[in-house]
Amino acid sequence: MFTGILVTKDDAGYRATLQDIDDSLLGEGDVTLRVEWSTLNYKDGLAITGQSPVVRRFPLVPGIDFAGTVVHSSHPAWRPGDQAILNGWGVGESHSGGLAQMARVHGDWLVDLPPVFSTRQAMAIGTAGYTAMLCVLALEKHGIRPADGEILVTGANGGVGSVAIALLAGLGYTVVASTGRPAEADYLQSLGAARTIDRAELGTPGKPLGKERWAGVVDAVGSHTLANACATTKYRGAVAACGLAGGMDFPASVAPFILRGITLYGIDSVMAPLALRQQAWQRLASDLDVAKLEAITQEIGLSEAIAVGTELLKGSVRGRVVVDVQRG
Ligand code: NAP
Repeated sequence: MFTGILVTKDDAGYRATLQDIDDSLLGEGDVTLRVEWSTLNYKDGLAITGQSPVVRRFPLVPGIDFAGTVVHSSHPAWRPGDQAILNGWGVGESHSGGLAQMARVHGDWLVDLPPVFSTRQAMAIGTAGYTAMLCVLALEKHGIRPADGEILVTGANGGVGSVAIALLAGLGYTVVASTGRPAEADYLQSLGAARTIDRAELGTPGKPLGKERWAGVVDAVGSHTLANACATTKYRGAVAACGLAGGMDFPASVAPFILRGITLYGIDSVMAPLALRQQAWQRLASDLDVAKLEAITQEIGLSEAIAVGTELLKGSVRGRVVVDVQRG
């Protein structure tokens, strides 16, 4: 038995409860880990509340990511005592996840914990931060350099946005943070944003093409925000789209693509190939200022995760939330 959050769905409805969980509910896999830290991502909020059908198998432990220590392995790459990170692969959706003291997964899904990070720091980054790095890698691969102009980051106070700002600013880019929380401007500037704009500027229907403003964009919001970001991206610039915090639709025109040659990169962290994950985590290890990471992180115990997961969906949580799963 181990302690964790379990999501169930039956005649009594959809429920997430903190409880003792039988080992038989560990997922399939060849590596069993003692989970040390997990985190709350937007998707975990959806899984905890049932607000969107992200959980596709019941009963299931939510938690799309975790960091911990291997206790048993029949996978050739992993031995007891190794420290590892798990992001995505359907964990916390169709395979029991990280919001519990134990987890079992396939060894091919795990990434080595970079030596510069503790398991807590890895989860302060979490899937949100690793996705932010995937966005930055896409913009770099496109050839965007700091001298090319401003980079827009939307959903700035969120996990993806906060880490994207810290990473881009650390790399020398001029970052403009779009937020619905102007009171957090000082926080966003402390992460490295040069200035903030009100997200309302981008959040309503706009013209097919606007003034060219951004060399590149990291978008965690979707919908009109993504459409307007594309319409205001400079000639041959690029937009990395990873999120839907403002909506899943994309009410845009082809104008930015066929008249300005902009590129829209889709960023998926869940099924990203192992080599790209390893690259992203190595770059996080070399490029992310851990002092900034600490500033964006708040810590909770497992017993608080259900309430905070619900708050996360209201957009009232700032930065990253790490969950000390052994604290209960
Ligand atoms: P989060 O911490 O909840 O942050 C989302 C941020 O978006 C909020 O802090 C808020 O920032 C802004 N926002 C919230 N509601 C909004 C609305 N109605 N309209 C406009 N902006 C709104 O979430 P996260 O973990 O950073 O994730 C952000 C998005 O990326 C989510 O949609 C998530 O599902 C997605 N994601 C995708 C992947 C992938 O693999 N593609 C991986 C991780 C996350 P402000 O208060 O500053 O405006």
